[in-house]
Amino acid sequence: MSNIYFYYLATHLLVINDLLGGGWTDPAYRLELQTICYSGVFDALYGGRIPRDTPEVMKVVLLGWRAAQRVTGWWDRLTRQTPLWQWRHLREVSALEVFWKWDNIGISTLGDVWGESHMRSFEEIQESYSLNKTQFPKYLQLRHTLLVHIRPGDSVPNCSPMEARTMMGGQGRRGISQLYRSLLFNTTPSHENLRRKWEGWVGPIEEADWRDVLMAPRTMSMTSRFRVLQTLYLHTAYLTPERLFKTGLRQTADCPRCSSPDADFFHMVWACPVIMTYWKAIVGEVSKVLHSEVEMVPFPLLLGAMGEMGLRRADRIFLGEVCLVAKRDIMIEWKAEAAPTLTMWRRGVDLCALCEKSVYEARGCPNKYNKIWG
Ligand SMILES: [Zn+2]
Repeated sequence: MSNIYFYYLATHLLVINDLLGGGWTDPAYRLELQTICYSGVFDALYGGRIPRDTPEVMKVVLLGWRAAQRVTGWWDRLTRQTPLWQWRHLREVSALEVFWKWDNIGISTLGDVWGESHMRSFEEIQESYSLNKTQFPKYLQLRHTLLVHIRPGDSVPNCSPMEARTMMGGQGRRGISQLYRSLLFNTTPSHENLRRKWEGWVGPIEEADWRDVLMAPRTMSMTSRFRVLQTLYLHTAYLTPERLFKTGLRQTADCPRCSSPDADFFHMVWACPVIMTYWKAIVGEVSKVLHSEVEMVPFPLLLGAMGEMGLRRADRIFLGEVCLVAKRDIMIEWKAEAAPTLTMWRRGVDLCALCEKSVYEARGCPNKYNKIWG
């Protein structure tokens, strides 16, 4: 799981947060949900089938929520926020004859009937929800059924991290970063396979260098588009001829530029002779500008970890940025037979410099700009 995936997930979750800012069971929000999407939203959030006529936007959001619960390890776990009557993991309960009277007076989550570690007594529930005493047999039925899923003494946590975030409501603009942080803190994504893949291409990578590589998307550029681009590069998240061929979407795995077979990601962005010539030209230009011979090695240029380049800090930032322009151009011309042109790259670099200039000026540190782009 990559950071960028979490970021997208967080943006989707924010929609859920807006929808359910008042909590699952607030009648006003439920009414809202019924009018803008459909009534089965709780069901869908907790694993029910998503109806075919669900608007596409809503579908993405619902799947985003499920993925977030899964990623944080809470998909199969009960919390006091778990909807009582619909959830697939309380299947026995949801199979009960409809407790619509209970649902209508606000008894709708597990926490409404399950206390710290035991089923709440009938009297207690009666008191909180003015439940009619004729419902006692139903209470017994529910208790009996719930015991299939939870044993007395089992404590049920109040909420999962995602439920906590979504139900806080009113997070405004900071919402995305809060959700993003929760996703990151509640998981330990392993990048071992990714590291092995890159090591197969660029040779052994030291621990410290690998840490730099993982940080590079965040530190290389102030533009979020470039940050995303670097993350996609790092995770080789592109449909290469090799990948398309394997999934049966392409006749061959040949490179569109040099026709060599088995064009994997590394070939497409580096090893291909056509692309190699392009990189050589760029490295030549950069060396001239920096008055220092930049080495033609894939590790720093592709992965953005410039530690070993022997350059000043400002020059490393500059090199990182201009490489990002080159990488972006390679992506733009992904399917072309020729490499991107140097003219295109120069224009990109100029534009990049122009934009950064105004940012540095707005931040009141034009010196920093001069150091990098001067
Ligand atoms: Zn090629």
